[in-house]
Amino acid sequence: MRRVSVFGATGSIGVNTLDLIARRPGAFQVVALSGGRNVKLLAEQARQFNAEIAVTAHEDCLPALREALAGTGTEVAAGKAALVEAALRPADWVMSAIVGAAGLAPGFAALSQGTTLALANKESLVTAGPLLLAEAKKHGARILPVDSEHSAVFQALVGEDMAAVERVIITASGGAFRDWPLEKLKDATVAQASTHPNWAMGQRITIDSASMFNKAMELIETKEFFGLPPEKIETIVHPESLIHALVGFKDGALMAHLGAPDMRHAIGYALNWPEREDLPVERLDLAKIGSLTLRAPDEVRFPALRLARETMAMGGTAGAAFNAAKEAALDAFIGEEIGFLAMTTLVEQVLSEMTAHHDLGKPLANLDMVYETDATARALARQMIPSLRT
Ligand code: NDP
Repeated sequence: MRRVSVFGATGSIGVNTLDLIARRPGAFQVVALSGGRNVKLLAEQARQFNAEIAVTAHEDCLPALREALAGTGTEVAAGKAALVEAALRPADWVMSAIVGAAGLAPGFAALSQGTTLALANKESLVTAGPLLLAEAKKHGARILPVDSEHSAVFQALVGEDMAAVERVIITASGGAFRDWPLEKLKDATVAQASTHPNWAMGQRITIDSASMFNKAMELIETKEFFGLPPEKIETIVHPESLIHALVGFKDGALMAHLGAPDMRHAIGYALNWPEREDLPVERLDLAKIGSLTLRAPDEVRFPALRLARETMAMGGTAGAAFNAAKEAALDAFIGEEIGFLAMTTLVEQVLSEMTAHHDLGKPLANLDMVYETDATARALARQMIPSLRT
């Protein structure tokens, strides 16, 4: 039995991961499960999978979790340090699916044990890519990408020589507002931005898809994970979300990865790697689909893509600032403090302030630099929000 842990178990990726684990009884033993405020679901999952330990990220949720798991053999714990301790427990495979920069520390801890890390938490690569890869190398650990585009690239690269890769093209659905006129975008509401045309995902990544910050994060993720120069990374709008990514080789060949928009594809690939197992996902009927649409992304409508390119060019601490400013902007939009388009303005303002006065782009020497940059960017964003209020 493979020992597995799922961080962010109560979220969209976590629930899908546990769905796949449940479908193979006897194959996996669940070590740690983590959640945030959804204590009821976390307790249900811990009972169902007989987890060794269940951890909530929030101290104030601990009494409820303890009560819900009383009489079971499952240990309970709470807080950031407890998440890291749980990630240090011996496991063969760890899913990193906490949302936001909070996912970085547990993933790092798992790698320090030489564990295989299935990485959905894209913020880890955006904020600390070089440190994460170095930690994996140091401990002989493997990182398997779970973001669907990066899983697709990873699969297209099996058996290939990276030196033969000319370009990587990641597809973008275009999110909720891909067909909205530009002038209407400024009035987009949180509810409108929280609905994705193709994918069922957590609220934060769904809004990031509508603003294209999700694709922006994925460009940076591609650079960090595959070690590609930014000019070899492209994005294309593909509203059907059936092609997840393409890899172009120096002989002109393009290898595309297709599949239904169901995260269990990418999660299952990482869970079963290096084998492939049956997955409960829809099989594409290409004749029925008939045609696929592709078009160039509009960087005027979606300046997040340009900001990602500027962030990649700076490197070092820039990714941590970009992500933190983006998270703060998203919080402010969800809290109805700022409008939809002001999210990009805010991120741009934070990055330019940090470039001017905070030496943005310094090479990352350690995780503390990531946390300091993150804190500075969030503080600056909080200061700037009042001037962007709608
Ligand atoms: P969700 O919002 O659905 O779930 C997030 C999970 O993280 C929940 O378990 C939540 O707990 C927990 N959590 C929230 N805040 C904290 C915190 N501060 N500390 C610790 N745990 C916390 O997110 P998704 O599943 O959609 O996304 C997870 C990650 O995977 C993100 O990084 C996302 O970008 C990435 N990803 C997601 C995809 C998807 O299809 N959903 C696709 C590709 C990548 P609770 O709900 O109990 O409060």
